[in-house]
Formats: sequence, structure tokens, C-alpha cells
Amino acid sequence: MMMTTTAPFIDVLRLHFGDAVQENISLAPYTSARIGGPADILVTVKSADEFAAVMKVIWDYGMPYYILGGGSNVLVSDKGVRGVVVLDRAKEVQFENGDQPTVKCEAGVIFSNLANRCASKGLAGLEWAATVPGTVGGAVYGNAGAFDGDMSHNLIWAEVLTLNGRVKLSVEQMKYGYRTSVLKRGEINAIVLSAMLRLKIQQKRKCLLKLMNSANAERPRSRLVRAWVPCSKTLQAIMRAV
Ligand SMILES: Cc1cc2nc3c(=O)[nH]c(=O)nc-3n(C[C@H](O)[C@H](O)[C@H](O)COP(=O)(O)OP(=O)(O)OC[C@H]3O[C@@H](n4cnc5c(N)ncnc54)[C@H](O)[C@@H]3O)c2cc1C
Repeated sequence: MMMTTTAPFIDVLRLHFGDAVQENISLAPYTSARIGGPADILVTVKSADEFAAVMKVIWDYGMPYYILGGGSNVLVSDKGVRGVVVLDRAKEVQFENGDQPTVKCEAGVIFSNLANRCASKGLAGLEWAATVPGTVGGAVYGNAGAFDGDMSHNLIWAEVLTLNGRVKLSVEQMKYGYRTSVLKRGEINAIVLSAMLRLKIQQKRKCLLKLMNSANAERPRSRLVRAWVPCSKTLQAIMRAV
């Protein structure tokens, strides 16, 4: 298999990110479909700062790359992925209490876990996300949604990384449509680092009940119709071997 990597590039990655850098790693375990070949290089990032630092090296060297969150909306070719796959495992979460509570979270946070955490604190608004697999980053990118909710109803801003640095995009600037955004349409080339989401104070019991209702309503649909198969917009997200 031809590698597009160059020695200095992998050396620089290893120097800065050590064991987080792996070569020739199967991507199948990192996707819901559990299929697909290897990435030439897989870098696992554990914070937004690390994510930004890895991206700087990738962009400096002009390497091809692909961002992987929870891998629930991608199909990886058996030929694998040339270049670098960055696996987002940045998981910091900060709740801001008050009359208008919010949660700031890094993009690698598992969205359904966040929905559960919010409900158990009596913070409503994310119950719809209880059964949406994947990360906050993937949900911001694709305007994930279920039932009567979607990311466009909760997002206050997303902090993204572009070639020119970090910038906060408001929900209006994300130009959300049905399961799409300015990022997904390729109108802005950017990586989602973190997001600020709007919540509401509610009785804990009510939050948990709504969460359970969402989960129960979703289950038959998931089993019979969707199984693990990604949604129709996935074609845009299929990893192609170059
Ligand atoms: C069983 C099942 C049920 C599902 N149900 C729903 C549902 O009810 N509603 C729904 O909307 N979707 C659903 N999906 C699809 C999937 O859960 C969503 O699309 C989810 O938001 C994808 O998040 P992820 O982290 O897994 O993204 P991935 O699959 O890892 O990536 C998807 C795309 O997002 C990009 N991306 C990921 N993270 C970032 C980042 N930090 N910055 C920039 N780009 C990024 C990737 O490059 C890729 O193009 C379902 C999928 C499965 C398997």
C-alpha cells in the first residue's frame, strides 16, 4: 500500500503527540458499522487544544486528513484512508447554572451521555438526543436531530478551527438546514472544537421522564429500520480511498 506520509511529518507528530500517534490502524472498531480498512496514521486527541495543535501540523504539511467523532455516520472503504485520521476524544464539560443554564462541551463528548447528565441535573432541552449516537462535534457538524429537536434549537455557538485560527460561529452562522450545516456543505473549511448549548431548568423527574420517553419511542425504529446503518446524508461522509 502506498503511504502518502513523509518521514519528517510522522516524526513531528510523534515528537509532539507521542503515543497518540499510531500507524496503519484499522478504523473498523471506531465506526458503528464496524467495517473498513486502515488509516495510514491515526491520531487520538484528548482536548480541544490538542486537536488544534494536531490540525496545525497537518495543515502546515498539507496532509490529507479526515475527522472522526463517534463514527456513527461514516462508512470506511475496505481500502482504508490515506493520510491522517484524527479521532476526537476531547471530553471536557462545563455547566453554567443560573436562570438560563448552558453547557459548554468539547466536541468529543458523547452526545447521548451529555443528554443523560443534563437530565439527571434537572437541566432540560437535550432529551431528544438520548438515542442519537456519536459526539457533540458530529452533531454540530450535521445538525443531528430526533423527534422535535435538533442541534439548531440548542446551539448558542460552536468554536471552530479554520486555517486562520479559532472562531466562534453563532447558530445563525452555522446556516443549519435539515441534517446539514455550513460545515457539512463545505462552505467553510473548519473543525468543531467545542460548543455552547442552551438548556432549561426543569424538575429533575420531568427531565428524566422525557428522556426515557424519547429512548423508548426510538427503540423499535432503531431495531427494525435503521439498525446500525447511517442516515441518507452519509454519502457525503463516506471515506474514500485516495
Ligand atoms: C443506530 C443509529 C441511529 C442514528 N440515529 C440518528 C438520529 O436519530 N438522528 C440523527 O441526526 N442522526 C442519527 N444517526 C446518525 C449519527 O448518529 C449522527 O449523524 C451523529 O451526529 C454523527 O456523530 P459522530 O460523532 O458519530 O460523527 P462521525 O460519524 O464520526 O462523523 C460524521 C461526519 O461529521 C464529521 N465530524 C465529526 N466530528 C467532527 C468535528 N469535531 N469537527 C468537524 N467535523 C466533524 C466527520 O468528519 C464526518 O464527516 C444515527 C446513527 C446510527 C448508527
